[in-house]
Amino acid sequence: MKARFVTSAAKPSDFPPPTHPEIAVVGRSNVGKSSLINALVGTEGLARTSRTPGRTRLINWFEIESKKPFFLVDLPGYGYADVGAKVRETWRPMIENYLEGRSSLVGVLLLVDIRRGVEDDEADFVPWLQAHGTPIVVAMTKADKIAKNKRFPEIKRARADLGVTRDPLAVSTLADDSGIPELWKALYAVLPS
Ligand code: GDP
Repeated sequence: MKARFVTSAAKPSDFPPPTHPEIAVVGRSNVGKSSLINALVGTEGLARTSRTPGRTRLINWFEIESKKPFFLVDLPGYGYADVGAKVRETWRPMIENYLEGRSSLVGVLLLVDIRRGVEDDEADFVPWLQAHGTPIVVAMTKADKIAKNKRFPEIKRARADLGVTRDPLAVSTLADDSGIPELWKALYAVLPS
């Protein structure tokens, strides 16, 4: 999979031209977002680009040259326990402006840590996305951290807590049964053909 970093931006006037459909990835800080983006595109260090100082609070675009070219958009992590109200005040409008105004957005990949389960941030976010009609793919990260027979109950619980119509996918960047091919399938399904 060929992927390249396109740009970082905070405000719509700096967003790249909407030349491809895009899927935005969102999740709490430390959910494993950078690791998963690297695992998805198989380009070690790609998502680290977006973690360089100054970029962690910005929206980052990656162009994916798959059979259906698209932009994978790395939204800054939310739910930082340690950020001040000021950051939160700038974070929310930036994300909401993006999600509401981006005409090329075709779906959101929401990440939930399988051990932490659904917390208030995710529970609030999903109805908001649903109200905007944005298709949601939910992936539960770090699946290797819990026993296989414990994954299914967590998946069912998260589905109920989020009020989504499909089972979240369990993914891992470490285990052999990584769930990455299944996640690719789910992402392709939201891209226009
Ligand atoms: P981000 O802040 O959401 O970008 O999270 P990172 O990708 O930096 O991951 C946060 C921490 O979780 C790091 O220590 C990773 O090594 C670890 N991590 C990420 N994905 C996995 C996974 O699938 N399994 C396990 N066991 N650890 C993971």
